Formats: sequence, C-alpha cells, structure tokens
Amino acid sequence: MNWNRMVQMMAGAALAMAASFPVAAQVAPAAAPGIPLNPSPIGDTSAIAKEAQSWLRDLIKINTTNPPGNEQIAAMYIAGILAKEGIKAEILDLTPGRSAVAARLRSTAMADPSKALLLVAHMDVVGVEKSKWTVDPFAAVEKDGYLYGRGAIDDKGMLAANLAAFIALKRANPRLNRDVIFLATADEEQFGDASVKILIAKYWDKFAAGFALNEGGEVLLKNGKVQYVAVQASEKVPVNVTVIARGTSGHASMPTKDNAVVHLTAAVAKIGNYSAPVHFTTIVRRYFEQLAAIEDDEIGKWMRSLDTPDRGEHAQKVVSDANPLWNSMLRDSIAPTMLTAGVRANVIPGEACANLNIRLLPGDTVDALLAELTKLVNDPQIRFEIQPDAGLAAPPSSLENDFYATITKVAGREFSNAPVLPFQSTGATDSAQLRLHNVQAYGFTPFPLTEEDLRRMHGDDERIRLASFIKGVDVLARVIAEFVVAR
Ligand SMILES: [Zn+2]
Repeated sequence: MNWNRMVQMMAGAALAMAASFPVAAQVAPAAAPGIPLNPSPIGDTSAIAKEAQSWLRDLIKINTTNPPGNEQIAAMYIAGILAKEGIKAEILDLTPGRSAVAARLRSTAMADPSKALLLVAHMDVVGVEKSKWTVDPFAAVEKDGYLYGRGAIDDKGMLAANLAAFIALKRANPRLNRDVIFLATADEEQFGDASVKILIAKYWDKFAAGFALNEGGEVLLKNGKVQYVAVQASEKVPVNVTVIARGTSGHASMPTKDNAVVHLTAAVAKIGNYSAPVHFTTIVRRYFEQLAAIEDDEIGKWMRSLDTPDRGEHAQKVVSDANPLWNSMLRDSIAPTMLTAGVRANVIPGEACANLNIRLLPGDTVDALLAELTKLVNDPQIRFEIQPDAGLAAPPSSLENDFYATITKVAGREFSNAPVLPFQSTGATDSAQLRLHNVQAYGFTPFPLTEEDLRRMHGDDERIRLASFIKGVDVLARVIAEFVVAR
C-alpha cells in the first residue's frame, strides 16, 4: 500500500522502541486447550489459517511487482482456490496481463447492494532492492517463525487472510444478513490504468457494496502486548505541485542575480521550513483523545491540550515535534522530493524545477495552500503548477455505524481489551475511491506487528510472524462473521 509511508512512523515516539517479546504469548488467546475463549460464529479458524499460510506462500512466489504488475496470474490462482470450494469467481480484465478478481456469497437472490460487505486487498507489490535482502524476496522463505517475502504484509498477507475468512464463511454456511464480496485489486501501488478507479468505472456492479474492509491502520505490538488497534477511516489527499523558477540563461563565468537555481533553492528552503496551520477533523480529534490515555503522562497531557485556547498552540508544537506522523495528521504537509536544473556545468540554466509532494487534510484545497506559499515565497520569478495526478478528497467513513462498532468491539475483545482508535492515514489506499462511491470503508490490517516489522513494508526483508498471521485470520473472520451472520 501507499499507506506504508504513513505506517512507518505510525506509532508514537513513546511507543517506537519496539523490543523483543515472547513468541507465542502475545498472539495466542489465553484459553485452555480445546476451549475457545469466545466461540466464533463460524467455528475454529486454525485449520483454514494453516491453509491460508500456503496460499500466502504461493502468492509471494507469484511475482506481481508493479510495474508491470502481471496481476492476472495471481487472479487466476485465487479463482482456482475459490473454484475448489465451489465458489465461482469472475476475472475482471483491466489491461493486457492485468486483472482483478471478484467472488460473492449471496444472502438472498435479490440482496441490497448498499448492505453488502466488500473484502478488499491488492495483488500487486512494490519492487525490491534484491541485494539488500538476506533471502530471495520471491521464494517465501520461512525462518524463525516468520514468513519472508515481498508482500508478506503489504498486501498479500491481507489478501490471504481475506480469502481465508471468505472461505471459512462459505464452509460454515450460516444464514447471511447481507452479501459478502471478495475483491482482489490490481495496480494499487502505482494507481495507473489498472487501478481501483478504472475497476470501479468498468465493473462497479460486480462488487457494489455499502461497507468495506481494506488494508490500513494497524495492530501495534510492543513488548509482547497489543498497544492499540488503529482503524483507518479517512486519508489525506496526495497532490504533486511543480515549483518552477525562470531566469536568464547564460555563461556561468558571468553570474546574474536572476539565476533560476538560486531562486528555486531559496523558494524550496522557505517552503521546507513552513508549517501549515493545524485543522482538526473529527477522526483526528478522536485519535488523539484516545491515544492520550495510553501514552505516557507528559505527551498525553499535551495531546489533551491540543485544542484548548490557552495551551493549544504550544501543545500542537510539542505533539508535532514528537512524531512526524502526528505532525502530518494535524495539518497539510509539504515534502520537496525532486529537483531538476541545468544541462552543463558551465551554463546557467534558464529554468529550474522542484517537485512538492503535498498531502492535504480532507476538506483543505491546494489552491488555498498555494496562495499561502505564493505569499511566503514572494518572488515573481517563481510559479506553481499543479500536476494532474492528484488524488480526490473522499468523505470520511462514519464512526457511528454498526460496522465500525463491530470492528471496535470484536478487535478490542480479541486483542485483550486493547484500545481501538479511529485513524486518518497520511498515505493513500484504495479506500478513498471506494468512499467516493458511498462505501463505508475501514482500514483494518488484523496482524499484530511490531514497529520494526511494520517498517519493512516497501523496505528490505519484509516478513510476517506466522503466529501473528494466524491470529489475524481468526480476528478478521470473527469481525466479518459478527457483521454478516444473521441472528
Ligand atoms: Zn498496500
């Protein structure tokens, strides 16, 4: 997912020092053998979790590095697994070699699509720097209780877990109160011409739903204990803006005051030091209120003061300085990421450019931010150009509906009463496109993971602890069953 950019820094500075922990204790339910603590409406998931491990291994071995993706091979593999269960999957072709796959468990012949639950995961993965891995990234190596491989967490772990929960439901065959739809998407990592946006435009009727579970959020494990469960209900909006400086080109032996490189770098330096004003969204407010209760006293105190008239300004500074994630959750963020200038060492170029990767809070506009930056830079040689690849702002998912309540209740219970917080991710996922189609989408990656393991997503030696995978399958299946099984 793109959300990894956010999740890398997700836990607070105070929570960031993830340490070693006993292997099984943190993920196994504390029940006597054979007596499940809370019987699941669809029964024991440990057998299917074992099967799902082998699907995950196979999916890692199918190289879906994007570009080019080649998700069609993974889609066919998934359709084959579903066929063995008597479930007819549909391959939804997007571009040559790239397809999504969808399947449905029906509640009634004419179910209401607005009630349906969609289980979403993407099949593509980001590339690897193979020389930095200690194992083959596409061999699904098992070592010390971990399964290694690109996509082990992002997002083939979720893909295999969704598949397991979906098939567990089919096998248990309970009466459903709504349709349940399995969907594996393509091109999430590049958001190009095989992305969920195109998928929705071409095939919406195949998977139209009112609710969705997707990647995002996290179950943070520290010292063998789940610290909190973060459920993503909203996300920031990515926009790229080019800063263009123009000047007089000429021989470098005779420098001029209007040198484009000088004007560009001065502008970028000002922008880099700029902090946009803090805006609170409902989700961010709730996130900090609940996080304050589990953080240490000092930072918790400032979190509680974020929106107070007397101490708010100082609190915002303390909290923003403590963690780059928190800083970005509170305001529009701007990261200069690329510079382009010059053709020869002895020529002053007539133009120099920089890319700004901007993440807007939902509701804020890039025009308003650029008006501020124009004033700040205050240089007639500088102009801004908004790039056409901007994301669209989606409304947040509600924190008041039955589905969010179910996720909160079941996840909290299954992770030893850990607090469950709503989360607004700073990175983007497929959920924004779903929310734009009135889907109440939530990011719930159910595997208890340490900060250190979370950082490996998009990085080297990505891996998932097998005990965490098994626990995640169980919790995911319970959340889903609680919401879809008729009483
Ligand atoms: Zn992902």
